[in-house]
Amino acid sequence: MTAGATRTTCPYCGVGCGISVATAADGAVTVRGDAAHPANFGRLCSKGSALAQTIGLEGRLLTPMVDGKAAGWDAALERIASAFSATIAKHGPDSVAFYVSGQLLTEDYYVINKLAKGFVGTANIDTNSRLCMASSVAGHKRAFGSDTVPGNYEDLERADLLVLAGSNAAWCHPVLYQRMIAAKAANPRLRLVVIDPRRTDSCDGADLHLPLRSGTDAVLFNGLLAHLARSGRANARFVAASTRGAKAALAACADASVEATAQACGLEAASVRQFFDWFAATRKTVTLYSQGINQSTSGTDKVNAIINCHLLTGRIGHPGMGPFSLTGQPNAMGGREVGGLANQLAAHMEIGDPAHRQLVQDFWQSPRMADKAGLKAVEMFEAIGAGRIKAVWIMSTNPVVSLPDAERARKALAACDFVAVSDCMADTDTTRFAHVLLPASAWGEKSGTVTNSERRISRQRAFLPAPGEARPDWQHVCGVAKRMGFVRGFDFTSPAGIFREHAALSGTANNGSRDFDISALSTLADAAYDDLAPVQWPVTATAPHGTARLFSDGRFFTPDRKARLIAVTPRAPLNAPRPQFPFILNTGRVRDHWHTMTRTGKSARLSGHMFEPFVEVHPDDAARLGLTDRALARVATAHGTMIARVAHSADQQRGSLYAPMHWSGAFASAGRVNPLVNAAVDPISGQPESKHTPARIALYQPQWQAFCLSRSDISQPAADWWVRGRAEGHWRYELAGDAAPADWDACARTLMGPAAEGAAWLAYRDPLARRYRFAAIRDGRLEACVFAGPDHGLAPRSWLAGLFAKARLSDDDRAALLAGRPRAAGDDRGPVVCACFGIGRSQIATAISVNGADSVAAIGTLLQAGTSCGSCKPELSRMLKDAWAKTPA
Ligand code: SF4
Repeated sequence: MTAGATRTTCPYCGVGCGISVATAADGAVTVRGDAAHPANFGRLCSKGSALAQTIGLEGRLLTPMVDGKAAGWDAALERIASAFSATIAKHGPDSVAFYVSGQLLTEDYYVINKLAKGFVGTANIDTNSRLCMASSVAGHKRAFGSDTVPGNYEDLERADLLVLAGSNAAWCHPVLYQRMIAAKAANPRLRLVVIDPRRTDSCDGADLHLPLRSGTDAVLFNGLLAHLARSGRANARFVAASTRGAKAALAACADASVEATAQACGLEAASVRQFFDWFAATRKTVTLYSQGINQSTSGTDKVNAIINCHLLTGRIGHPGMGPFSLTGQPNAMGGREVGGLANQLAAHMEIGDPAHRQLVQDFWQSPRMADKAGLKAVEMFEAIGAGRIKAVWIMSTNPVVSLPDAERARKALAACDFVAVSDCMADTDTTRFAHVLLPASAWGEKSGTVTNSERRISRQRAFLPAPGEARPDWQHVCGVAKRMGFVRGFDFTSPAGIFREHAALSGTANNGSRDFDISALSTLADAAYDDLAPVQWPVTATAPHGTARLFSDGRFFTPDRKARLIAVTPRAPLNAPRPQFPFILNTGRVRDHWHTMTRTGKSARLSGHMFEPFVEVHPDDAARLGLTDRALARVATAHGTMIARVAHSADQQRGSLYAPMHWSGAFASAGRVNPLVNAAVDPISGQPESKHTPARIALYQPQWQAFCLSRSDISQPAADWWVRGRAEGHWRYELAGDAAPADWDACARTLMGPAAEGAAWLAYRDPLARRYRFAAIRDGRLEACVFAGPDHGLAPRSWLAGLFAKARLSDDDRAALLAGRPRAAGDDRGPVVCACFGIGRSQIATAISVNGADSVAAIGTLLQAGTSCGSCKPELSRMLKDAWAKTPA
């Protein structure tokens, strides 16, 4: 760690990497991985490495707003308090709701949950974590009697078999994936099996990929359970001493032969047998799973089908083995600890248990206590739309982009009597509906704790002052609570005080009856809280340094201390493809963006890898439907429509489509995928089926396509379809329209914005071919350019991006601009592959084909690509394989 640096944690995924931030005298911030943090030992992925590029104040909300006008804090807090109090007085506590986020720190989460459940008296508080891991929570509780992740990251290095189910960890948990790959290199016995309908980058290091039919995960793990029993791998002693339900679980899959399983899953029987045999023969097995399992109408059953296999074999609670839920968000786990879900109480207590309710109410000395589960995310927005919820407070999340059937969420907020939003960004798809907008401190300005996927609590520490009037979220909550008359319960003066109370509650009347217990941290002085080292809960008097693994004693948190195997009857996804919607639409993340891009969208480096919303289509389907690669397509479901760039991919199954979730209305005119997603949910967990919506796809053929690169941000250009994003030193816009402009010169100047004003004008016009090129040059420097034509080809954007870096264009550059192509092949580096060093696809292709690079390491030696965070290594490997496939034998 750099001397004087601040040790904090990454605000993106659930890996929870430690970060060391150094701030120079001129304010320049340098971000490095914290070599001492046990989650990442100094590694960061592309997103973490680019954090310094995302902390600028552009777009930040810096002052409270009431009814669209700047207001003081007192007025804004008073307005929320009075709106909530009046609504509760008139319609009761269940007429209000709180929709929060896995981005909040644990201390923020604790106070908002306390306000809702203990003081307002409603459990109508839910979190966007519902969308990513609620099925894991429900599965854990059914199996273990508690929401417990038994193992830790070290287990991945101590295992001999890693099973990655429904998880593209290479993109979504990149540092953890790199740990797996490093473990594999160090241990030749270690095998990696990937179970995923798509062939993702996580398959790059896999020994076996099972591209199962979408939605058949429970069939596969039921088949595995039957195979384990048949092959004598049941751990009879463990099953008898530590579990119940094995007989019923096995009866539910008695007919599941390898062949029947393979057929139901659409897999080769030999592949299924191989997986089953490896699993049966390998005691040290970790099964990691994520959204591909959770985001399903039978997500809870899928989780239990996985856990069943570990319970039957007794592979849990010891080094190198166990089921392992990978959480999506940085503090999804912290939210679970404080009871941030509508069906939880605080400190892993049960809202349905009167003794737990009394315990929490006594501890809080609160006037009332919610006595039943509240509305889960999808239900909550239905209730808002139906007018049953009349006031909602949204914190740190963007449901108009991220909820399934998102258009319904938008309409619900538009019709809601009162909407308060706490956010660090001024203009998101959701803040537009706020009657009151509270400016929140952002990462870098906040102090508190987060908990990662392995139960490790880490400090997030501020290294920047809060700008303008921004304040941390816990202060928003306490300010409103006090104005609602709840002074005593919310008189906190620091996150340390909140943390101490949270820790004390976890230990109250616990005595080992509940898994979550951090009571040993309840007396931390402020300085000790500031210095708190990463630690895995439970943290108790008997385990003051934390607990690496749970269940090693074979005792669980059910009333009889035995785990439960659950009899699982696999169910197909709720909505099947049909003639009108013959495809299955699957959604997910991309490597370099996070959620709705409010932060990663500020980084040119991160925006370069995948610039536009896209839809992956199998080439056979594409050929049948006339969808050429890079054409635009309209994807439609029964719920909504989007327009995205077609990407041919043989890694996609025939009949399936894949589109990323990140693009919001701020970055694309028609790029939001969640309005298309059905809001069908798992009946137990309430988690939506975001990976399986019947859909159709058809060519969208505009009259013209264009791109504009400009030093000016023109925000939302006048075009029928557009995408905007950051590039190095300029903004990039991709555009399309249904009617050609009458005057292309005027149109180009408008598109370029202020960058074109007073600039010299270069123009190439070919009305016959409908091709136009314009460039605005000031003092010899390229200010903006517009290329337009009947198709998308136009010119390599990456070549033109290089011209923006030049202080002065040469005559050759100007000639190339008019010609519409680089003078030399080396002038175009191609789209970014390695975000850390800005290495492009063309550069890598040259390194392989011309310079003889024959391995990822060799590419790294030549170009540096892949030598920093390693997130691009699978893509480099794929490029090598593609090049070899094209080389004549
Ligand atoms: Fe952040 Fe990447 Fe680590 Fe996730 S893997 S916590 S995004 S640096």
